[in-house]
Order: sequence, then C-alpha cells, then structure tokens
Amino acid sequence: MAIRCPKRERREVSSRIVVVGGGFAGFWAAVAARRVAPAEFDVVMASRQATQQMRPRLYEANPESLQIDLSPILQKIGIEFVPGEATALDHIARKLVLDHKKELEYGRVVVATGSALRRPLLPGADEAYSIDTVAEAISFDKRLAEITRNSGAPTLAVVGAGFTGVELTLELRDRIAHHGAPGAAEHARILPFDAADVVGRELGAGPRPVIEAALAEARVELRLAVSVTALARDSVLLSDGQTISADAVVLTTGMAAAEFARNIPGERDRLGRIVVDRSLRTPASAAIFVAGDAAAVDGGDGHLVLQSCQHALQLGRFAGENAARDLIGVPTIPYVQPPYVTRFDLGRSGAVFTRGWERTVELTGAEAKAVKRRINREIIYPPFDATREELLALSSVEPALQRRPTLKSQRSP
Ligand SMILES: Cc1cc2nc3c(=O)[nH]c(=O)nc-3n(C[C@H](O)[C@H](O)[C@H](O)COP(=O)(O)OP(=O)(O)OC[C@H]3O[C@@H](n4cnc5c(N)ncnc54)[C@H](O)[C@@H]3O)c2cc1C
Repeated sequence: MAIRCPKRERREVSSRIVVVGGGFAGFWAAVAARRVAPAEFDVVMASRQATQQMRPRLYEANPESLQIDLSPILQKIGIEFVPGEATALDHIARKLVLDHKKELEYGRVVVATGSALRRPLLPGADEAYSIDTVAEAISFDKRLAEITRNSGAPTLAVVGAGFTGVELTLELRDRIAHHGAPGAAEHARILPFDAADVVGRELGAGPRPVIEAALAEARVELRLAVSVTALARDSVLLSDGQTISADAVVLTTGMAAAEFARNIPGERDRLGRIVVDRSLRTPASAAIFVAGDAAAVDGGDGHLVLQSCQHALQLGRFAGENAARDLIGVPTIPYVQPPYVTRFDLGRSGAVFTRGWERTVELTGAEAKAVKRRINREIIYPPFDATREELLALSSVEPALQRRPTLKSQRSP
C-alpha cells in the first residue's frame, strides 16, 4: 500500500536517508526506505563494500563464493552506494563520518553495522582462526587445504560449542574430503571445547538430544565444562594445565555488536547492542534508527531479538520503513517479528528444525536439511531477478508479502 506524504510542517535539514551497513538488515532497510520515501528523497547505503557476506553459510566449503555484489540491485531501485568505513556519527549536526574525513549529512540514519566475533581476551587469541567474515573463513579454508596435503590424520580444535561451533564441527570431515583427502577426513580428530556443561546451551533442551546424536555419529571428541586459558594457531591450553596440539584452532565464541555501535548515544545491552524503542528509534536521538545485530528490542512476543538472519531481515524492513515515515511526517509503526524458528545444520546427520522459543523439534534428518538449504541458499539472498516493483514490494513489513517465487539467480550452489 502506498504511503501518502503529508504536507511537511517541520523543515528537515536533509531529505537524505543514510543506511550504514550492507548486510541483511542494511539491504532491506535501504529497499524499504526507498519504497516509502518520495522520489525526491535520496536513499544512500554507506558500507565497507557493495557486497553482502552470507555469514550464516561461512561454516561451509568454498567461502570465497559466499560474497555477493549488491551494485546491480541497488542501481535498479535507485539507491546510491557510498563505500567507506563509518568512523563517527555527529548526532547533533546529523552527519555520518566515513574514513575519518568524508561527511554525509542525513535527515534519518539507520545503523545496521551488524556484529563481530567476540574474541576471548586470552593470550594468543588473535592468532586463532575464525569464520566470522568471508576473509577469515577463506584464511581458515586455506589452512584446511594445507593440513589436508600434509597430514593423513589432522587434528582440529574448535573453541566454542554453541550454534556456530557445532555447525562447523559437523561440517569438518566433508570440508577435508572436499580438499581431496577422503582418507584424512575419516581419520581426522575433531575437538570442540566449551566452558558450558551442555552443548549448544543457547539452543535450549529441545533439540539437544538430536545434536548430541549427530556429534556422536560424527565421532567428535566433545569436551564440555572446560576453560581455555591460552591459545595459539596450533595449540590450546586448558584450565587443568593440559595442552592440546592441533593443526588449526578455530574460534566460535559468539558475537557482539560491531564496533561502530559505540558511536551511538544511549543504553547498551550485554552484547553491546543499542537499546531502541518499538519503532527501532534510539531514545537518545530522534533521527537514529537501528536494525539487525546492532539492535536490542523486544520482538513483540516478550523476547529480546537474537543476532540472527530471521531477525535482521525483519528489523531492517521496519527500520527503513520507519526512518522514511518519520522523515516525511507519517507516524511510525511498531516492530513485530514473525514466530521464531531455528534451523540448525547437523552435517551428515541432516539438520534439525524447531518452532517457538521452547524450541520444539518439528523436523529432523534429510527433511530438515532440505528446509535449511532452501533458507541458506535461496531465501536469505537478495532477489536479483526481481523487477524494481517486485523488489520494493518484497520490502514490506508484512510477512505474507515477503514471499517470492523461486528465481533462478537467487539460487546459489
Ligand atoms: C559463521 C556464522 C554462522 C551463522 N549462522 C546463522 C544461522 O544459521 N542462522 C541465522 O539466523 N544467523 C546466523 N548467523 C548470524 C547472522 O549472520 C547475523 O545475525 C546476520 O548477518 C546479521 O545481519 P546484519 O545485517 O545485522 O549484520 P551483518 O551481516 O554483520 O552486516 C553488517 C554490515 O555492516 C558493515 N559494517 C560494519 N561496520 C561498519 C563500519 N564501521 N563502516 C561501514 N560498514 C560497516 C559490514 O561490512 C556489513 O556489510 C551466523 C553468523 C556467523 C558468523
């Protein structure tokens, strides 16, 4: 439904909406802002690069293929792209600073700078591998290829047995086989560690038996209730004094809001996320909206949003729509998140699909894997084949209007 622009009584300093970040939240925020804002208003995306990193797939093989160019789609719908590192934000003068020098004035800004790995504050933590960004995942993959060439029975240590750690752990044998060493894949020792006394603590008790069965099936040597006290590229030191040698150590120790969020005035939660109201606006500054992994807000169901794609995609749409509504003088709308589900890849054991915050298991095995694949390889990708009008329509905050036919270039291998 078209939103009519009322005659503006308040004169805005700038009619530009700037979206900072080109991830899942930033992309849909920019498209939604473009849908709502009249043509004479500029919508600008400012991000490091005009590419979107498919972070939920970075535990998979071929990480170099998991970065996609947003330029054609941004051009198609009239969103200007400005490359750069956002380094400051002057919320009084309403200016975003890029690379410490270039200033971008805004009428409204959407902060969608996402999250980054929480590297533990331990000696040697900077030396360990991670899969948080495409560049980091490529670096780990190169090491995996090297190990595969040099060892018939490699040892891999994964620090953190939460969502990402378990998905990576269960993919590792096939990743080694992918590098041409099926024998080494079967003989590899895979050692995930976690300080918690259960695996995947944040996933709750519902799917745990299925996850534990998959880990046993994969012959993974899971070590729980153990603290890592120091790290290096090739070893892990444990709190009991034991040193574990490994061909590679990978950190999957959770995420926190990316550093840029520190520039935004107001309250933070324990993950460094900016606390916003239900319109996704910061109480401390009326022209700032926040989306995705940078935002802490109730999803309308009594639960704080998670740092996940399903939340980022919807938060982005609401933040973009509300930033544009507010700029043209139309009331904002309260953010509502569709019912929460989890899709968790279990490698050779398929996947597990849960529904609700109690995480009731609904599907397992190959059936759940098919759902996970469709989400990771189609649904979360920007719809490149859509026309301008289809794209704008897909940025609706109404879940029923976000469904799209499967388009050829939306699919990825
Ligand atoms: C290995 C891994 C597996 C995951 N698996 C899943 C999963 O299975 N399911 C799920 O739902 N979620 C998963 N996630 C989480 C999911 O990827 C995030 O929740 C999602 O990416 C958040 O989207 P976002 O747009 O908020 O942030 P991001 O995707 O992090 O995008 C942030 C954007 O902002 C840009 N940016 C950041 N700082 C600046 C700056 N200062 N200046 C300019 N640009 C900046 C970045 O370059 C990027 O373009 C996973 C994450 C990882 C790392």
